[in-house]
Amino acid sequence: MKIGIVGLGLIGGSLGLDLLAQSSESEPNYIWGISRSPDTCKQAEAIAAVNIASTNIQNIPDVANTDIVVICTPIASILPTIQALAPQLPQNVIFTDVGSVKAAIVEPASKICQQFGQGFVGSHPMAGTAFQGISAVERNLFQNRPCVITPSEDQAALAKVRSLWQSVGMQIYEASPEDHDRAVAMISHAPVMVSASLIAACQQESDRSVLQLAQNLASSGFRDTSRVGGGNPELGRLMAEYNQSAILRSLYTYQQSLQSVIKLIEQNQWAELEAFLADTQSDRNFYVE
Ligand code: NAP
Repeated sequence: MKIGIVGLGLIGGSLGLDLLAQSSESEPNYIWGISRSPDTCKQAEAIAAVNIASTNIQNIPDVANTDIVVICTPIASILPTIQALAPQLPQNVIFTDVGSVKAAIVEPASKICQQFGQGFVGSHPMAGTAFQGISAVERNLFQNRPCVITPSEDQAALAKVRSLWQSVGMQIYEASPEDHDRAVAMISHAPVMVSASLIAACQQESDRSVLQLAQNLASSGFRDTSRVGGGNPELGRLMAEYNQSAILRSLYTYQQSLQSVIKLIEQNQWAELEAFLADTQSDRNFYVE
C-alpha cells in the first residue's frame, strides 16, 4: 500500500516504523511523510519511519497513487490539514486521523473529503507513552492495543482503514464519534486530569522536609497513579478543549465519588470504606487484566 503520514511525532512516526518494517516483496508498503520541521523529516527518513518526508506535499513525488493518508498532527491541526491536503490528492484517496477525540472531527472531515470525491473514516489508536515527537517513536507501539474506528457508509474505505490498523497489531472496535468521546472521557481523558491533580496536590505540601521525603519514597504505586498526569501537556489541553462536555461529565462523577470517600473517612466508617474498596477491587477487572 502507498500510505501518507502527516505529523511525524510519537504516533505518526511509530506507525510509519511498523508499516515499513513489515513491508515485504509480496506486500510492499511505501510511506511518504509530512511534518512541519525539516529536522523531523530528516530524522524520520534516517530511522526508516518513512521512505521520504518533506515539509511540503509538492516535494513528494507521485502522490497520485496514494491509498490512505493518516493525519497524525495535534487535534487542533487535523481539520485544517485535511482542508489543505485534500485538493492536492487524487479522488478516491482515503483519509483517516488518529485524534483522541472524534465528534469534533468526523463530520466536518467527512464533508471536506466528500467535496473532493475522497473518503474519511475516523480512527483512534489507543496507544501512547508519556513522550512526544519523532525521538519518542517506538516499534510495536500499537501491538495488541485497541483502536476505535468510526462508522462509514463507504464499506471499502472502512475495510482499508480497519486493515491498516490490524496490520500493526491493533484490535478494532467500531463506535460512533459520540460514544467514543464519552467512553474515552471516562477511561483516558478524565484520568489525565485526576492524575495531574494528584501530582499538583502533592506539590502543595508546605513542609519542605516532608515533601523531600515523599519525593524520595515515591515508588511503583505513585509511578502508576501519576503516569498519565505527567504526559504531553498540549495533548491534555486539547483533549479537554475538544471533548469538554464528556470530560466534565466524567470529572463531576469522579468528584462525587471522591467526596463520598472523604465522608466515609471523616466519619470513621471503616467497614463501609472497605466494602467500597472491595467493589473497586473487583470492578477494576472490567477495565484491565
Ligand atoms: P506528537 O508526538 O507531538 O506528534 C505530533 C507531530 O506532528 C509533531 O511532532 C509535529 O512535528 C507534527 N506537527 C504538528 N503540527 C503539524 C502540522 N500542522 N502539520 C504537520 N505536522 C505537524 O503528538 P502525538 O502524541 O503523536 O499525537 C498526535 C495525534 O495523536 C494527536 O491528534 C493525538 O490526539 C493522537 N493520539 C495521541 C496519543 C498519545 O498518547 N500520545 C494516543 C492516541 C492518539 P514537527 O513540528 O516536528 O514537524
